[in-house]
Amino acid sequence: MKNNLICVLIGAPGAGKGTQAKSVANYYNCKLISTGDILRENVENRTLLGLEAKKYIDNGNLAPAQIVVSMIKNVVKSFVENKAGADKSLLFDGFPRDLEQNKLFEQILDELNLSIKGVIYINIDDDIVYERLTNRRICPKCNRVYHLKFNPPKFDNLCDDCKVKLITREDDKIDVIKKRLEVYKKLTYPLIEYYRKKNKVVEINGNKSADDVLKDIIAGINCAK
Ligand SMILES: [Zn+2]
Repeated sequence: MKNNLICVLIGAPGAGKGTQAKSVANYYNCKLISTGDILRENVENRTLLGLEAKKYIDNGNLAPAQIVVSMIKNVVKSFVENKAGADKSLLFDGFPRDLEQNKLFEQILDELNLSIKGVIYINIDDDIVYERLTNRRICPKCNRVYHLKFNPPKFDNLCDDCKVKLITREDDKIDVIKKRLEVYKKLTYPLIEYYRKKNKVVEINGNKSADDVLKDIIAGINCAK
């Protein structure tokens, strides 16, 4: 990867974005900035921003953009400052998620003299999202993930390791998936359009297997250089 290659990964719930982000960051040996992880770390470590965010999360709301952005800014800033003269390549997962966050995102990059090279958009059909998520089962004891069709447990609805009954995550229930997809489209489609106009979008067919999606992402990033 060329020095200071800044990429953003975007995709619907169920698109396998988290897994792909780790693989891509690994492949290019670049720093992965995952909003979910940063938010969790701040809450767990009870930082000022974490405590502020927790108030919203505990009430079932999303943490406000300003708080999330401040957390990310801290991480990016200290990373860049420690890397003077060295490669500062970054991959963002789950951020920015909408135009509001993107405005702040662009300010951060500006301040640090960085610019975005590509937005990798994993495009997946709704019916495939439903098929993946509604068939997902989790062991409540060891958190092992199963898929009823592609990766079923040996015995009906029991964890192979713990022999306890598998559960469906609240997030994977059909009504919740529908809502999550709606929110995602409403917030993120305008962002994709924004970057499409700037010719920065690398669109990937997310309906394929995880291995094929990864190959396509790497090919796409190499072309975006
Ligand atoms: Zn288990």
